[in-house]
Amino acid sequence: MTTTRSPSGARRPAHTDVAVVGGGVIGCFVAREVLAARPTASVTVIDKDLVAGGATRRSAGLHFPRGASAAVRAMAAESQLRLTALAATRPDLPVHPLPMTVVAAAGTRLDETYLREARLRPAVGAPHPLIQLPAGTAGWAVDGCHYADVPALTLALMAELRPRVPVRESVTVTRLDPAVDRTRLTLSTGETLEADHTVLAPGPWLGHPAWRDLVAPIGARVKKIVALHVERAPGPDDGVVVFHEEDAFLLPYHHRGHWLFSYTCTEWDVDPERLDTALTGADLAAARDVLGRYAPHLVEHAVSGRVFCDAYHPDGPQVRPLTPTGRLVFTGAAGGSGYRLAPSLALRTVRLLEPDPEPEPASASAPDAVGAAPSDAFAPSVRKDPT
Ligand SMILES: Cc1cc2nc3c(=O)[nH]c(=O)nc-3n(C[C@H](O)[C@H](O)[C@H](O)COP(=O)(O)OP(=O)(O)OC[C@H]3O[C@@H](n4cnc5c(N)ncnc54)[C@H](O)[C@@H]3O)c2cc1C
Repeated sequence: MTTTRSPSGARRPAHTDVAVVGGGVIGCFVAREVLAARPTASVTVIDKDLVAGGATRRSAGLHFPRGASAAVRAMAAESQLRLTALAATRPDLPVHPLPMTVVAAAGTRLDETYLREARLRPAVGAPHPLIQLPAGTAGWAVDGCHYADVPALTLALMAELRPRVPVRESVTVTRLDPAVDRTRLTLSTGETLEADHTVLAPGPWLGHPAWRDLVAPIGARVKKIVALHVERAPGPDDGVVVFHEEDAFLLPYHHRGHWLFSYTCTEWDVDPERLDTALTGADLAAARDVLGRYAPHLVEHAVSGRVFCDAYHPDGPQVRPLTPTGRLVFTGAAGGSGYRLAPSLALRTVRLLEPDPEPEPASASAPDAVGAAPSDAFAPSVRKDPT
């Protein structure tokens, strides 16, 4: 980004067609998708930390073909297609297909949660010698699962973008001033950047003073996430086991040489700036309690882990214009699924920047959530459905 001078010599703010605030996995996919839609656009990514240093850095990286609502299932299906295609064309990327078993109470209608592509079928035997199925539960085999080293993937994709996309790391956006046709971003370096379109992909930093008041009406909240590291080496053919009722999973973390156990922590309204990322005794006890129901022999090996947080919304992930003209857009609140839903969120974010064929007069009320009607022109050349 350069600051330009007017004929009189006065400094003018630099300009970009699209500013992406947040260089996590979602911001990275948004930047890619903007360029796929409009290859000549100037795009700038800004992050107050290093790229992939936020929630993305701690992501367990599991993708499974399911969704709690029809909207999330549609996003999961869309993302699965794109992530699978990406991994097929780029075998160097850290995306690893895995066998998967879901353990649930007998008679649970898993077909209401899982995608058709999952090809749910009764599993043969226990999912792993160390796992005991409690009475009244059964296992189902599932297709279409993988896990990724999300920070490594994000860094690899961002490296690919860098020749075309200025990436401003360790640069905080301290202030946002939205106007009708652009947004002015004030940066911690003292520079200003004017962007025709600004995409806010702040992960759990919903409360940053630069946008707290703009984002608050969305109604998203931030929840702590904890996963334990189980210090036992997984076998090469081990797959992930999902415990349906507990919304927990045991993932063979082949690339790190241990298992990862994720369970549902219920600590709400944490602040990513203040959150202590050290595992507490309470975290350990709560996670071990769930793990012990299925894999008691692993409990003593569950000695460390990863702690952070993510933004959640009761209606699922959000892609929302924050201004009547839609030139400032929020994307995220992916509720602990921001890796697996990132490609779909990015697609929907770019669609929101597309021209409305029959533009309606600007209204003060923002359209609702994911897939909301486009509200302002992005560029005439934007494709409807990037392939
Ligand atoms: C322990 C854990 C396990 C998880 N497991 C899974 C999983 O198995 N599968 C899955 O799909 N998802 C998982 N998730 C969720 C997933 O990691 C997140 O949803 C996803 O990383 C969010 O990406 P993001 O880009 O929105 O946010 P982030 O990665 O947090 O990126 C936001 C960025 O914004 C930057 N930023 C904030 N404020 C400013 C500012 N003022 N100026 C400039 N930059 C700013 C931050 O520095 C940060 O880098 C997990 C999350 C955690 C914490």
